[in-house]
Amino acid sequence: MEPILELNNVSSGYGSIKALKGISLKVFPGEIVAIIGANGAGKSTTLMTICSIVSVDSGTINYDGQPIQGRAPETLPPLGLCQVPEGRRIFPRLTVEENLKLGAFYRQDRVEIEKDLENVYALFPILKERCKQEGGTLSGGEQQMLAIARALMSRPKLLLLDEPSLGLAPLFVQKIFEIINDINKKYGTTILLVEQNANLALQTAERAYVLETGKITMEDSASVLLDNPEIRKAYLGE
Ligand code: ATP
Repeated sequence: MEPILELNNVSSGYGSIKALKGISLKVFPGEIVAIIGANGAGKSTTLMTICSIVSVDSGTINYDGQPIQGRAPETLPPLGLCQVPEGRRIFPRLTVEENLKLGAFYRQDRVEIEKDLENVYALFPILKERCKQEGGTLSGGEQQMLAIARALMSRPKLLLLDEPSLGLAPLFVQKIFEIINDINKKYGTTILLVEQNANLALQTAERAYVLETGKITMEDSASVLLDNPEIRKAYLGE
């Protein structure tokens, strides 16, 4: 099977700061893949580089059979590549439903959009209850759900999730990961997620990469990494 996403020796950064130093990774259709690593390892930078928000200094990024490095970021969601950035970034003055409909901005298929709206409401019943409420008045966890639900409205082939657990109460953290699993199983959406909560990330993903100061130092199936004493010591607080 061809990977849906392949990074080959990708370097990128911010001026003189080299945040990624030649990373290579592959994501295959239908997988959930996690990138784990400490603060500042370059996890967010990896996702932002894939989305062209941070530009590639060297190396190549292929998505769905074509090179995408150097493309304008706004050209990627119409190809099915969609990111939920860290910090949620919903529109606070728009209602929940308006936020969701904006996720379908590139689509013309009105009937299907209505169906997808019902599907995301089924996945996140709290959003249906709050559909007329302004996004900015939702709790942090609800805003995270709204950001993920909005991304789903674009019918992504590959969903990039940046720290879905960040700032959430423990109950919400568990719930978000259950929903990530559901999205993958129900819709076959491929997911690349970046997480500081290595434990949950490794329980949810099939494979994972370990990122340390801009380099990939390990890659394996998530269950093997979960059993690795070095990983347990460094990332699972043992
Ligand atoms: P965290 O989990 O703390 O968000 P991370 O693994 O996502 O960490 P990045 O945010 O990708 O790490 O940061 C990688 C490196 O790039 C860090 O050294 C960080 O200080 C630096 N960096 C990130 N954003 C910028 C920026 N806008 N300008 C300059 N340096 C940056």
